Amino acid sequence: MARLFDSARERLDAAAKHIDVHPDVLEKLRYPKETLAANLLVRMDDGSRRSFKAWRCRYDDTRGPTKGGIRYHPNVNLDEVMTLAFWMTFKCAVANLPYGGGKGGVAVDPKQLSPAELERLSRAYAQAFSNFIGPDRDIPAPDVYTNAMVMGWIADEYSSIVGHPSPAVITGKPIPLGGSLGRGDATGRGAYYTIRYIEKDLGVGPEKKSRVVLQGFGNASYHAAELLHNDGYKIIGVSDSRSAIYDPDGLDPIAVFEHKQKTRGLAGAPSAGKLTELSNSELLEQECDILIPAALENQITDENADRIVAPIIVEVANGPTTPEADAILNKKNITVVPDILANAGGVTVSYFEWVQNKAGFYWPIEEVHSKLRTFIEPNVDEIWRFKQDRGIDMRTAAYVHALNRIASAVAAHGTKAFFAS
Ligand code: GLU
Repeated sequence: MARLFDSARERLDAAAKHIDVHPDVLEKLRYPKETLAANLLVRMDDGSRRSFKAWRCRYDDTRGPTKGGIRYHPNVNLDEVMTLAFWMTFKCAVANLPYGGGKGGVAVDPKQLSPAELERLSRAYAQAFSNFIGPDRDIPAPDVYTNAMVMGWIADEYSSIVGHPSPAVITGKPIPLGGSLGRGDATGRGAYYTIRYIEKDLGVGPEKKSRVVLQGFGNASYHAAELLHNDGYKIIGVSDSRSAIYDPDGLDPIAVFEHKQKTRGLAGAPSAGKLTELSNSELLEQECDILIPAALENQITDENADRIVAPIIVEVANGPTTPEADAILNKKNITVVPDILANAGGVTVSYFEWVQNKAGFYWPIEEVHSKLRTFIEPNVDEIWRFKQDRGIDMRTAAYVHALNRIASAVAAHGTKAFFAS
């Protein structure tokens, strides 16, 4: 039952109501272009073999090669991979990257595997999908529980299959293997640039010591927290997959991160004030000025949306809010800065990495940061203005913005849509 995918497509239908888009375009975007499933047979350290289900979906390539991460998570399934690929299609269009959307996944708990097993699994993924991915076809990247090392193994395996170094087949690689400076913190930095760009409109800012709660403390949320904290925002709550901590007097995200590295958890993290421990779901309901869900999808649902008190939600995770929850949040006048805008910094610097790989010419970090800002701000601006002009929510405005770009690419391909009406 493709439930997540069905609710993702509701966003498309909602956006289509606001513009005059040819039905052919909507028909094209209703299903993925192609999906490949594989069974990865991996030799474990004890000599046995174990199989892992794996997928890669190329959702739509109207605007260019498909682009999107590979997720390693025990609950990954085809429905989720298709949905994530759908979201990537709209995210790449929002960010104005010359890409369509794709996504991959392996049903595995990587924490249960040794580094050598993880390497064999990642190389098996590259082998199984070597004809499906490619530098001009479909370009993977990191996602939940995959990192630069995994990207390096896949780049290496793919290169040996095609017989020459092919760094542009995947992004998010280690720097010595052709990774870009600034890819590591790009998702968090993109969210940070987005917030800072519209903070006056949102009524928040460092001078007000606006309070931020983050669900998740992985790569994206840690960097967003660190950048906001350095500018004077007050981080008052964070969580990981097991627990959450909250301190209305403020937390130092760097000290919390170091504590988590040492103890593998958040409990007992350093704090100058009144630290309390909560569950992950309780954290979402705490009082704050900005709530940043940065973990997995379906965290804000019709079950808990009523209890959310934050006036602003910035979605650093993909799909943290269900459409039913969206309706409740809109009614409560909560501004949701949607995932396809707020977390597009990662794929934007992935694009920079791919450009650098193709050119064989590498940029200094300052150039990556300034180009990232240059890519993000005009889209935030346009989406914010469109939302204000039309009196619609920001997610619908972002989908309309993306749909316009995809529709004009469909038209430029000379399909029937171009000639109609
Ligand atoms: N997994 C990230 C996302 O959901 C990055 C994708 C990429 O860099 O291609 O946006």
